[in-house]
Amino acid sequence: MSDRPVPFNRPYMTGRELEFITQAHERGALAGDGPFTARCHEWLERLTDSPRALLTHSCTAALEMAALLLDIQPGDEIIMPSFTFVSTANAFVLRGGIPVFVDIREDTLNIDEQLIEAAITSRTRAVCVVHYAGVACEMDEIQSICQRYELALVEDAAQGLMSLYKGRALGAIGDYGAYSFHETKNIISGEGGALMVNSPYDVQMAEIIREKGTDRSAFYRGEIDKYTWQAPGSSFLPGEIIAAFLWAQFEDADDINEKRLLSWRIYDRLLEQMEQQGRLRRPVIPVECDHNAHLYYGILPAEVDRGVVLSYLKEQQIHCLFHYVPLHDSPAGKKYARTHGDLVVTESMASRLLRLPLWVGITSDDQERVVATLDRAIDLGRP
Ligand SMILES: *Cc1c(COP(=O)(O)O)cnc(C)c1O
Repeated sequence: MSDRPVPFNRPYMTGRELEFITQAHERGALAGDGPFTARCHEWLERLTDSPRALLTHSCTAALEMAALLLDIQPGDEIIMPSFTFVSTANAFVLRGGIPVFVDIREDTLNIDEQLIEAAITSRTRAVCVVHYAGVACEMDEIQSICQRYELALVEDAAQGLMSLYKGRALGAIGDYGAYSFHETKNIISGEGGALMVNSPYDVQMAEIIREKGTDRSAFYRGEIDKYTWQAPGSSFLPGEIIAAFLWAQFEDADDINEKRLLSWRIYDRLLEQMEQQGRLRRPVIPVECDHNAHLYYGILPAEVDRGVVLSYLKEQQIHCLFHYVPLHDSPAGKKYARTHGDLVVTESMASRLLRLPLWVGITSDDQERVVATLDRAIDLGRP
């Protein structure tokens, strides 16, 4: 078994990124919404069956667009998990909205759909779900709650590109879905993202918000003869260089997805016995979910000291990570958000979770070493 360092992540390049960037450069049209952006939009629309995809600078920007589209006003409440990245909450807080955190499910670590209804008040405007690790939330139940209470449904699908729930693409199920192409995700452009606008009635306003509050998109299509300021908006569109890079990744997306899934399944098989011995819990994938192998994690037994486990792995040059500090426990979370009910599962899972190295090109040899070292580390972490 080799003993070379195993990094947590290694951004994957398909080999055609620079070729496409050169094409954009030679064309000399570098602003947003050029031909590469158009191709990326079409690809996403075909993948998801959504009426409109719009590239953005990041998933963060796409979530901010969703908050603008919903016209979130100061005091409006948005129900979401605390076990998520800061942008899920920040996008709404920037508009004066108040995130209301509810607990997560123990199996998928996604928002517990059974807890949503009790958190609804007269100020609730939306539910924002997060598909952790690219594994879907219980969307049927959540959609039916949103319909019953006339709430908007936003999907933070930052990790969910190419994942399915009952055959439907994550990001295309709610009113709006946000993807990330940050270099730590499966398909990347350094920084990057997209907003999926899943109702045709919202497309026009989404285009306006993304183009500094103007109807420039309609102008470029020749639908109007001048463009003007229509609504509050900002500049959410990336330039063509980013879109050119992203297009190279989209071309190979199926291959990337397949390779990640292969490595994911290798971990899952290697860790089966440790799970049977009660040394680690593996991820749970509900039958209705097809996932994209965004990450592989284990949940350590409560009595194991995760700090000891992580530092032993690091000593052996195997780079594993924990994940979110729950937002309700952060300084800004305490100031700008509130919780509904206790968040015991969130706190327990967040303190016991460990993510393993997973990237295109990791070898099964590397993975065997990760698992063997983890096995020893867990012994060292026991009281
Ligand atoms: C990565 C991530 C984001 C942020 O994505 P950016 O493209 O970096 O803005 C938001 N939410 C979740 C759940 C993420 O994993």
